[in-house]
Amino acid sequence: MRWWWIGVGVLVVLLSMAVMARIGHPPTELRCPECRSLEVIPIVYGLPGTELTEQAERGEVALGGCILTGNDPAWHCTACEHRWGRTDMGR
Ligand SMILES: [Zn+2]
Repeated sequence: MRWWWIGVGVLVVLLSMAVMARIGHPPTELRCPECRSLEVIPIVYGLPGTELTEQAERGEVALGGCILTGNDPAWHCTACEHRWGRTDMGR
């Protein structure tokens, strides 16, 4: 049964390497798929508070409104106004 444990060990090493690689690289979603711009901000849903309103005025976040359709984009490109991605808040 010794080979079985070696297999498990290799699997754990490969999995931790995959996790490290994910942490090391920013998600590809942060580049606009339409114009390749990096001017991408997250879309925030729900009723915005004071802090969130200030962030939106500074252009750090986009406000998506408080009505979720279940098919809401997660990212907003400030260069071409394109919206894409999926938020898991619309469940
Ligand atoms: Zn764009």
